[in-house]
Parts: sequence; structure tokens; C-alpha cells
Amino acid sequence: MGELVTGTEGAARQAIEFSKSTGWHGPPGTVDPLDIAQEQLRAVCERMDLSQNTFNMLRHMERCFMVSFPVRMDDGRIELFEGYRVLHCSSRGPGKGGIRYSPDLNLREVSALAMWMSWKCAVVDIPYGGAKGGVRCNARAMSSGEIERLTRRFTFEISPVIGPDTDIPAPDINTNEQTMAWMMDTYSMGRGKTILGVVTGKPICLGGSQGRRQATARGCLFVTLRAMEKLGMRAGGARVAVQGFGNVGMNAALIAAQDYGMKVVAVSDQFGALHNADGIDVAALAEHSQRAGRIAGFDGAEPIPPGDLLELDVDVLIPAAVENQLTSLNAPRVRARIVCEAANGPTTPEADTILRENGVTVLPDILANAGGVTVSYFEWVQDLQSFFWSEEQVNAKLRTVMETAYERVEATAQREKCDLRTAALMSGVSIIAKSYELRGLYP
Ligand code: NAD
Repeated sequence: MGELVTGTEGAARQAIEFSKSTGWHGPPGTVDPLDIAQEQLRAVCERMDLSQNTFNMLRHMERCFMVSFPVRMDDGRIELFEGYRVLHCSSRGPGKGGIRYSPDLNLREVSALAMWMSWKCAVVDIPYGGAKGGVRCNARAMSSGEIERLTRRFTFEISPVIGPDTDIPAPDINTNEQTMAWMMDTYSMGRGKTILGVVTGKPICLGGSQGRRQATARGCLFVTLRAMEKLGMRAGGARVAVQGFGNVGMNAALIAAQDYGMKVVAVSDQFGALHNADGIDVAALAEHSQRAGRIAGFDGAEPIPPGDLLELDVDVLIPAAVENQLTSLNAPRVRARIVCEAANGPTTPEADTILRENGVTVLPDILANAGGVTVSYFEWVQDLQSFFWSEEQVNAKLRTVMETAYERVEATAQREKCDLRTAALMSGVSIIAKSYELRGLYP
């Protein structure tokens, strides 16, 4: 795409400069996620020789919906919150993506996450476009009643743009099955009937799917095992470190230890990290964490500085927390052979290059953590049909989807002589670009 070399390079560089000069105040070595997402898109569009028009269409969000709404707090005060729902692309079906509650959430982060959702859905070949949303709030400092009122009012505010045929939210950071139950109830009340398919990741008794809670983690393990096989590594006894001990991180650690006999030597959460070279009893730690609200205080492992976890001598490192964790500052010291990106955007582009040069295999987020959206899709299909599947059926179908996607991405990487992230992006972006081309422009 000849002219794009100057056109988009300029645009992406400008975006980076823009965010440096205005919006981005992340820690040293980190980059605005939207800059990363747009830069990745520019690079693969160039590589695939896509037109400037296609690039321009793909780099913009289809819809950005921002709301500001009041919530009565327990002490009687009325607090105003800002919420977002962004749809990146709907060319292949309804939007799909999580709802995140986080104190520094902003439109650029939500937009980056929505764009990654588009590529992710295409990589695993499910008929959704990318979306994302959330509320800027410190959910951990709020009571359950406050969170419920915030969730219900936010759902009401975004109800014009969500729905089972238009855009389907799911859980993400600091949201869970209960949050989805409140969202489904609020949306349904406004329409006078129960509409299960408006959100996924619901409790099982409210149209949730068997296996959804563990799906993101299970999907990560399916692709990690495939990668280990290719690298001639054995799963039994393999040393694993997991950053983040929430829905994804905790389940990844549990499945790695219980189903595959891996040795989970370190885990962390936002309050600290723990290490035990002989392997942590993950089930006992999960119980402790659920009781105490954090991993600190567990007596089966030693505290270590959180940053050290990423640099441990392990076979597999699973970042399962937030963006921008592997940066140019710590990537040179990463000793894992495989980094499985359970989180979205945990690796900056600079770190990605360093890891590649050091021979670390990075399983990119849009492939590695696609198990969650895959089983969300299964949940939606089950809700629409009112016909539910067993956990064995769900896990078997998930395995097929993840392994097929892995093989497709790996074949692309071999053919194109590139890393798995570039191959996954090429795979996702090309499918969406094709869908735009075939649909044409309205009117
Ligand atoms: P969660 O809120 O359940 O858990 C997040 C965990 O990360 C918590 O244990 C928190 O303490 C920890 N954490 C936060 N900041 C940290 C830091 N700086 N260092 C160490 N730990 C930190 O969220 P989740 O649903 O498990 O999501 C985790 C990641 O996985 C996010 O990037 C999310 O976008 C991604 N993801 C989630 C799903 C899903 O199905 N939930 C699907 C795909 C991707």
C-alpha cells in the first residue's frame, strides 16, 4: 500500500506524539494502548498491502458512546461517574466485549480494547465485531449496594446502544457474574421481558454457560500446551508464574496445576506477589484469596517484590492483570520461554521486539485469551435457542476453536516468516477488511 507508508506512518506517529503531549500519563516505558493498537494495525495493513481507505476505516471506531450519570452513595452523597461503550466494528455481527470498572479508565483505553476485540473475534472466527465499555470508578472502595446502583444506572444509560442483536457486554476487570445479572435484569425491565442474550458471563441459573467462568483461562492453557508441544517442552512439572489472581489468573493457575500437573511457582495480585520454588498449593491460595480479598497473608509461599515475578526463571509466564506490564525496562530480564498473554495488551511494542530477539515465544492476547469470548458466543447461542449444553460439550468445542485458531495463526507465521502476534493480527485484520470490501458502502 504505497501511499500508506507515508500517510499512516505519519498518522500513527502523530497519534503517539499527540498522546505523549496530551493524554498519556502512564508509568515510564509504557505507551497509550490506542497508540499501540493503531500502530499494530498500520504495520499489518502495510504488510498485507491494504489500501489507505481500508486502513482509515479500520482505525476508527464505529461508535463511541459516553455517559455521565449520578449514583447515590451509602452516605447519602450523590457522585457523578463517567461511563463508556465503544463499538469498533459491526461488519460481521453484533459488537462484543467486556465491561471494566477501573479508576483510570478513559476513552482511548476503551477504544483500543474494542479494536483488539474485533481482531480477536475474527481470529477465532466467531461472528461478532469488537466492542468494549466500562465505568471510571474505584470499584474496590465501593460497597456492593453502590456497585449495584452504579451498574443499573450505567446499564440504563447505555441501553440504547446494547442488545442481543447489536452489542453484547460481558465481564472484565472488576466485574463478574453478579454484575452481568444486574445488567441483564435492568435491560430486561426496560423492555418488559427477560432478555438473556443481552449480556454473557451470567450466572448459570440465569442463562449463563457451563464453563464460561474458566473459559478464558482454559483457552490460554489450550494454546500454551500447543506451543509447548511445538517447542518440545513437557507440561508436567513445567514452572509457571501468573501475574493477576482474578477470574483469569486464578483459573489459569488452578487449571495449570490441576489439569496439567504444572508447578505454579509464583502468583501476584495488585497488592503483592508470592513465590514458592516447590510449587504453590493453588487451590488453598484461591480459598485464602477469596476469603481475604487478596493473596497476601497466605502462609504457603514467600512474599517477593511484584516486579520480580515477571523476571523469574520459569517455563511459562502468564500476565493476567492489566496492560503495559512487560515494557522495554523489564523485557530484557524476562527468562520465561513462553509468555501467554491472558491479559489484553500486557506487552508494549518495544518489549515485544526485545522478547522476540531473545527467543521468547509470545502467545498474543488476541489469540491466547480468546477463550472467554468464544464461550461467551456459546452462551449467547444457547440463550437464543433456550437450549443448554454440558460443560464437557462446551470445553470440547472451546478446545477445537482454540486449537484450530492456533494452527491457523502458526501456519500464517511460518508462511509469512513473522512472529505469532503479527500473524494473528494479519489473520484477524484480513477477515474484517474482506468483510468491509464485500459489504461495500451504504448508500
Ligand atoms: P479481575 O478483575 O477478575 O482480576 C484482575 C486481577 O489482576 C486481580 O487479581 C487484581 O488484583 C490483579 N491486578 C491488577 N493490577 C495488577 C498489577 N499491577 N499487578 C498484579 N496484579 C494486578 O479481571 P479478569 O477478568 O481476570 O481480567 C484480567 C485480564 O484478562 C484483563 O486484561 C482482561 O481484559 C483480560 N481478559 C479477561 C477476560 C474474561 O473473561 N474475564 C477475557 C479476555 C481477557
